[in-house]
Amino acid sequence: MEQDVTDQSHEDVALNYREVCQKVAEAEAEAGRPTGSVALVAVSKTHGAERIAALAELGHRLFGENRVQEAAEKFPRLKERFPGLTLHLIGPLQSNKVRDAVALFDVIETVDRAKLAAGLAEEMVRTGRRLPCYIQVNVGREPQKAGIDPDRAADFSAECRERWQLPVAGMMCIPPAADDPRSYFEMLAKIADGAGLTVRSMGMSGDFPSAIAAGATHVRVGTALFGRRPPVTLA
Ligand SMILES: *Cc1c(COP(=O)(O)O)cnc(C)c1O
Repeated sequence: MEQDVTDQSHEDVALNYREVCQKVAEAEAEAGRPTGSVALVAVSKTHGAERIAALAELGHRLFGENRVQEAAEKFPRLKERFPGLTLHLIGPLQSNKVRDAVALFDVIETVDRAKLAAGLAEEMVRTGRRLPCYIQVNVGREPQKAGIDPDRAADFSAECRERWQLPVAGMMCIPPAADDPRSYFEMLAKIADGAGLTVRSMGMSGDFPSAIAAGATHVRVGTALFGRRPPVTLA
């Protein structure tokens, strides 16, 4: 039966999901935080709609994609099929994609410059779609990485709220790959605290327990749920 073949080929997603959920729960308990206080953003970039649907069939509704175009090819139909599905943009956003991004996504995690903040604000006013925004902080001050400098993050967050009336809800970071991420997670938590923001999106497949220990409210997990991705060339 065709149905059985589909179920079989996505069995690993179900197993992975159980394992990741359990690890999240363990990390919450270890940190003395309430069960369910950390949201799991399932990062589905490069994976096809059927694989994403396999996770949604299990009841999961929170997903993240890093490219507007790719998400626009997969998610309008998935959103129709799975009511309540919520999609976070976790990759860099170019100003010329703001219109598409605001139409499709529910949260923008990667606000990191004035021009983008202004563009998002304008589009939100135009459409009446007010999406929660996170400020992306370049915690390792890596020149090749997106995000605002840690020293400017609090001021930028205030500017986004006051000057552009953006609904800033939190902060997000991607620590340097080579270092122990713990101190960077703690840095982001501290900056977010100072800015009066409660949402912290940090931690990926390799380090989400450590991010939860440091106060993550959202972890972004791809590989541990969906398996390895084919190598991609970034435009
Ligand atoms: C791809 C990606 C992730 C998920 O990474 P994994 O190591 O596969 O869990 C998380 N955050 C961002 C911004 C990403 O681009």
